[in-house]
Amino acid sequence: MSRELDQLRKQIDEVNTKLLELLNQRARLAQSIGEVKKSQGIHRFDPVRERDMLDRMTKLNPGPFDNDTIRHLFKQIFKASLDLQEKNHKKALLVSRKQQPDDTVVHVGDVQIGGYEKNLIAGPCSVESEEQVREVARALKQQGIRLLRGGAFKPRTSPYDFQGIGEEGLRILREAADEFDLKVISEIVNPSDIDLAERYIDVIQIGARNMQNFELLKAAGSSRLPVFLKRGMSATVEEFLFAAEYIVSRGNSQVMLCERGIRTYEKWTRNTLDISAVPLLKQESHLPVFVDITHSTGRRDIQLPVAKAALAAGADGLMLEVHPDPSVALSDANQQIDIAQFEKFMDEIRQSGLFQFTEP
Ligand code: PEP
Ligand code: MN
Repeated sequence: MSRELDQLRKQIDEVNTKLLELLNQRARLAQSIGEVKKSQGIHRFDPVRERDMLDRMTKLNPGPFDNDTIRHLFKQIFKASLDLQEKNHKKALLVSRKQQPDDTVVHVGDVQIGGYEKNLIAGPCSVESEEQVREVARALKQQGIRLLRGGAFKPRTSPYDFQGIGEEGLRILREAADEFDLKVISEIVNPSDIDLAERYIDVIQIGARNMQNFELLKAAGSSRLPVFLKRGMSATVEEFLFAAEYIVSRGNSQVMLCERGIRTYEKWTRNTLDISAVPLLKQESHLPVFVDITHSTGRRDIQLPVAKAALAAGADGLMLEVHPDPSVALSDANQQIDIAQFEKFMDEIRQSGLFQFTEP
C-alpha cells in the first residue's frame, strides 16, 4: 500500500517537474510576444485572444477536470504571464532603480541634492514684497540653508483668492537670492512660462495640482532647469513615478520628488502625510525624495516630529514655509512659521542628528 503511494507520488513529482518546465517555456514565449507587441505599440492585454485560447482548451478537455476548472486554471496562467510583462515594462522606466542603481544627484549651481546630502528648502508660501523675501533669505543664509522657495504663480483653489504676483515675484526672488548667495525654486503652472522661469530661477516646482498636467511635465522635461515635482493630492505612488517619467523621458534627468500629503478623511491635518511613500520611492526610484512638512500637516505644532520622521524614513530633504509675519500672509497664513520659530526648528532638527550629511 505504502509502496503504491510512493510510486504515485513519484509520478506526481515527475509531472510537476514537466509542468514547471512547460509553464516557464510558456512564460518565455509570452515575454517574446510582449516584446513584439511593445515594438508595434500594441496593448499587452488581448481579451479576444484569451477567449480563443480558453475555447480551444475547453473543447480539447478530456477531463476529469470540468471546463470551469480548466478555464479558472488557464486564466491564472494568463494573468501570471501578463503580470510578468507588466514587471518587465516597469523595469524599463527611466526613473526606476532597476534602470539606474545609483542615486541621482541633482546639481543646482554649487548645491548638491541627493546622494549623501540632506537639504532644506524654505521660504514663504507666496512672494508678497521685496522686504518679505529679503528677510526670509537673510534668515536662511544665517542658517547655512541654500535653497529659497516662494510662489509667484499660485494655483489657488478659489479664483477669488490671491493668485500671486507673477513675473515680478520671480524677479524679487532672484534679487534676494543673489544678494544672499541662494538658489531659487518657484512654481510654474503654465508650459509657456518655462522660458520665463529659465530667465529668473534655478529650479522649477511643479505643484500637487499640476502633477498630471502632462503638457507642463513635457515642457519641464525639455528645460535645462532641474524640476521639483510634488505628489498630487490623490495620486498613487505609481502615478507619481509616471509623472516624473514624463519629465525624465524628455531628456531632463534632474528631477526631485516631494511627498506633500494626500487627501484622506482626516481633518486634524490638512493632508495625510504618506510616510511610507518615502522608503517606497527611495526603493523604487533613484531620484532624491523630499517631504513637505508644511502642506502635509497644515499646522505648526507637529512639524518638528514630522520632519524627524521624514528624515528617519530616508528623505533627502525637507520643504517648509517660513514667513516674517505669517498672520498677515496672503496665502497659507495658518501653517507658515515665523523666523524665530524657523531658527528654533533648525536648532532642534540639527540636535536630532538626522539632518546631517550621511557618510557612504
Ligand atoms: C507650494 O508648495 O507652494 C504648494 C502650493 O504646495 P502643493 O502644490 O503641494 O499644494
Ligand atoms: Mn503654501
